[in-house]
Amino acid sequence: MSGAGAEVHERIADEISALSETLTELSLDLHAHPELALEEKYAASRLAGLLGADFAVEEGVGGLRTAFRARAGSGSPVLAFLCEYDALPGVGHGCGHNLIAAGGVGAALALRRAAPELPGTVSCIGTPGEEGAGGKVLLLEAGVFDDVDAALMFHPGDTTMPIRHATATRRLEIEFHGVAAHAAASAHEGRSALAAMIQFFVGVDALRQFVPETSRLHGVITHGGEAPNIVPAYTRAEFMVRALTGEVVDELVDRVEAIAAGAAGATGTTVTIARGVRYAERKNNHVIAGLVAGHLRRQGVAVEQPPLRGGTGSSDIGNVSLVLPAIHPYLQVMDRGTPSHSLAMAEAVAQPRAQRAMLRMAVALACAGADLLADPELFASARAEFATRGPDLPE
Ligand SMILES: [Zn+2]
Ligand SMILES: [Zn+2]
Repeated sequence: MSGAGAEVHERIADEISALSETLTELSLDLHAHPELALEEKYAASRLAGLLGADFAVEEGVGGLRTAFRARAGSGSPVLAFLCEYDALPGVGHGCGHNLIAAGGVGAALALRRAAPELPGTVSCIGTPGEEGAGGKVLLLEAGVFDDVDAALMFHPGDTTMPIRHATATRRLEIEFHGVAAHAAASAHEGRSALAAMIQFFVGVDALRQFVPETSRLHGVITHGGEAPNIVPAYTRAEFMVRALTGEVVDELVDRVEAIAAGAAGATGTTVTIARGVRYAERKNNHVIAGLVAGHLRRQGVAVEQPPLRGGTGSSDIGNVSLVLPAIHPYLQVMDRGTPSHSLAMAEAVAQPRAQRAMLRMAVALACAGADLLADPELFASARAEFATRGPDLPE
């Protein structure tokens, strides 16, 4: 397998050098304008604007206002670089999606500019709402990935590792409805939605010992009542159920919902439950991840592949990865041990060190993309691996 060859790789590196100020400015600009899931209007229009010079861009694809698809070239294979750009409540870009966006756009532009002669289509897909809304799942269902042959993206973190497993997860919105009453004078006429909510959380704690140990059950109460002297008529929680596979998540969701129903029965209240989008486990394409790792090492980036164990998060790239060859390597952009989804990470992903790392990843993603387009045998081996390998699971 020969890939695209050193000359193409060099041209890609030159293109990223030429784009470095633009991409760094973009990353910092998104960081300064954090937008929550599915509300990323500013980010989506900035990315679409930058891509517009070289790509045909459609905004609002798949019925999502803040999604977009950019394409250049023609026919197959279609190689898509994915951008995420949503932020988190309270911690802004504490997941570093500003870097994912800048790196994804950079890779697409650099590949297209450096090697327009390569066959196939280079695409860049803006996938909003990774933090909970399942943007990629909605885009998959809407057919936006139908003609895509491989999807490449990365995620910032505290370690550079090509392959990482991820848990499947589903969010639940749980609401209890009771009867308000004076909490002292006529408490007996009330039915407390807060008592139901407390029973629910206690019931989930009782369940914990009897679930697979790799599962996670966690939530917050977003509405707990109105005033201490009113029996609460309404409470609301947001809850997440995680497990190694979507199948186990489904089983656990049934058990968690039974606990909510039991809590309602015990307190004379009623419950309504809304299920969110289910995020799937992840099936990394090891052939493509290996290409990216090689191009990172070539640039002097230390790449590790720690054993798959320990806690992980979840991402909607999992759903994409079960349908087509996809990668989601992690890139060290901050000190080891910096927690994700934190103010510390939000600060780290705005530092020059993180921008430099993102630029190297943009080179690596674009070079891997060039290899796949230039070498049909290589692409065939990525597809063959997809057809035979299952999801990555911890040891
Ligand atoms: Zn996140
Ligand atoms: Zn993230």
